Amino acid sequence: MLNMNDIVGSHDIVMITLDTLRYDVAVLEQDNCPHLCESGGWEKRHTPGSFTYAAHHAFFGGFLPTPANTDKASHVRLFHGKHSGLRTHPNTWLFDAPDIVSGLAQEGYRTICIGGVIFFTKKNKLSRVLPGYFQQSYWRMNFGVTNPNSTANQVDHALKLLDGISEQDKLFLFMNVSAIHGPNHYYIPNNRSDSVESQRAALRYVDGELGRLFASLRERERPVLCLVFSDHGTAYGEDGYEGHRLAHEVVWNVPYREFFL
Ligand SMILES: [Zn+2]
Repeated sequence: MLNMNDIVGSHDIVMITLDTLRYDVAVLEQDNCPHLCESGGWEKRHTPGSFTYAAHHAFFGGFLPTPANTDKASHVRLFHGKHSGLRTHPNTWLFDAPDIVSGLAQEGYRTICIGGVIFFTKKNKLSRVLPGYFQQSYWRMNFGVTNPNSTANQVDHALKLLDGISEQDKLFLFMNVSAIHGPNHYYIPNNRSDSVESQRAALRYVDGELGRLFASLRERERPVLCLVFSDHGTAYGEDGYEGHRLAHEVVWNVPYREFFL
């Protein structure tokens, strides 16, 4: 179990949401994801929100996906708001802010957001809310869901930013990966519809690109805690359902990993 009180202040922290990745798809591709799964497999968790906007508010509030088991004692939170009146675990890092992003900024972290899906585009007031948690936030058209090279573009941008950041700076880097969200049919040649198979292909693509980001982060002076998970899954016709923002096990079960670089 991580002790976040030993990590906050001494480690860089990277949070990556693999937007819309289903738990079952992540497990099917575990052996084909050498970068994401180098040190272990996916943990099954339940998301606190069934679509991007809701889930990310919960995450930034310190509510990461909950372990998918009935043993409450194992549900130790990494982050928890101070003065909530609730009893917290000694390994939980308490932040005195409305959200973990500004809480980490108070601890001297530089907070950076690299957006992906529509809620990070900053194109209207609603889509400025989530990026607005961060000191620096970026979105480009070619980071979005319609670009088959979105993860390469997001990683290129992150690498450029990392080049300009002193090794002494404490870093909280958040990236919302858009490639696995629909449309993802184009990750299979001559395929016209999104499916479990095309989401699997998208995940393999994403893993390949994240390798460059992890290699660069490994070169930084501080050790890096990497938190990688999905914000929700999506339905491809199961029980008649399509998409997300609905309650179905293909939506509420999400893959989760924490590891060090
Ligand atoms: Zn999402």
